[in-house]
Amino acid sequence: MQERIKHTYRQAIYEFVRDILVVCPKCNQQALVQTGNFHQPKFTVDEVRVSCIHCGYSQVLHNIQKRKDEKQKRGQILIFGAPVDPFFHLPVWLKMEVLGETLWAYNRDHLDFLEAHVGAKLRERNGFTHQVKSIGARLPRWMTSAKHREEILKAIEKLRKSL
Ligand SMILES: [Zn+2]
Repeated sequence: MQERIKHTYRQAIYEFVRDILVVCPKCNQQALVQTGNFHQPKFTVDEVRVSCIHCGYSQVLHNIQKRKDEKQKRGQILIFGAPVDPFFHLPVWLKMEVLGETLWAYNRDHLDFLEAHVGAKLRERNGFTHQVKSIGARLPRWMTSAKHREEILKAIEKLRKSL
């Protein structure tokens, strides 16, 4: 268990960019953005697709490789770190207001990660001295604050039920 959590600390937000659950722009139900191996440092995927099994909505974005290069220059084409998918900028499905802030995740793995991190804070306070680096350290303070833990874990549970 400890090993698993230590490992999750090393993950970057990038690694959660796969099979992103979004709100379908046509029918407002759950749609899926399929990103192939985009989460890997040397990804080969060059097109990303969003599709909705409820209404048949479907869009494809081409030239992902090129967009990534442009992103490094202009920073406007792929959006990371916001409650939208980086490609089509559709709102993520797993999103809710808690403590006046927006708690969100790309998918189940991302939600699991947040839960592990928020839960791990408890153990840290109880004498464990794992250093929280990487993405953990970059989570917003309201999310890592010990006094918010219970409320955030409750919200994560609610989001899990909407999966
Ligand atoms: Zn739809």
